[in-house]
Amino acid sequence: MIPLFTPPRLVGVFSILDFRFGIADLNRNKVIEQDSRSDTTNHIGAQKRSLQKNPQSATLNPQSRHMSLSQTVESLSKTGRSRSWRSLLITNLIIAVLTVIGFYFSLLATSQPVSSTDMETVNRAIDVLAAKGFDREVFLLRHTVTYRSTDHWLNRVIFKENAFAATNFPFQMITLYPDFYRKANDDTERAMVLLHEAQHLQGADEQHAYAYVWKNRAKLGWTGQLYGSTPTYMDVSGLTRENAPELFVCTLKPDSDCTEDLLTGQKPQTARLR
Ligand SMILES: [Zn+2]
Repeated sequence: MIPLFTPPRLVGVFSILDFRFGIADLNRNKVIEQDSRSDTTNHIGAQKRSLQKNPQSATLNPQSRHMSLSQTVESLSKTGRSRSWRSLLITNLIIAVLTVIGFYFSLLATSQPVSSTDMETVNRAIDVLAAKGFDREVFLLRHTVTYRSTDHWLNRVIFKENAFAATNFPFQMITLYPDFYRKANDDTERAMVLLHEAQHLQGADEQHAYAYVWKNRAKLGWTGQLYGSTPTYMDVSGLTRENAPELFVCTLKPDSDCTEDLLTGQKPQTARLR
């Protein structure tokens, strides 16, 4: 039975091939019959001669015919299957990209942008990071981020990590709260906040973000000597102990802070004391 979806041309090819195979079989049987009559003692030799006379019979025997048809049908089936998988993959990919784009625009639509005045403050903080050599973070903060001044719908339903800022990865969206402008003492403290958020822009978790800022606070110029008494320094110090406790296990150092050696330039004792 011919399936409904079989193209007419394919059916035609099969019919002609079947006809040709029938003729070939008849010719071959005829030759073998003649040879067996004339030389019954050398059957193998007769077959060889008959094959020389009819080369087609060597390639068009019933077994090879079966193989040829089977391979044709299988290859058609495989091609169709790979096409269907490919189209399914492309369709899913397009849906995923459209979903991400739709999600991103829904975040934009439900929040407010940062004013130009506040954006100047943000840019000054980024300039501090640039001056201190945080090139990767500066690139991300300048070229990949959309800054918002109010919470979008997603931030309203999830827990906010602190009162300074919140980052939505991988949408590269940073929401800056009033404390970023008011509670932070100066541009260096704001730069510290952005350095933390820049770790989230790279997919880092809280532990890594707090640890990275704490280890690099000397490079940034945000040290306990200069900022130890500010509310921001005290808050972040406490949050770093909470989120990255492994940095505070060096009992022979001030406040058990293993990074103190990094600040003084001496060799850290972290590994020895752990
Ligand atoms: Zn964070």
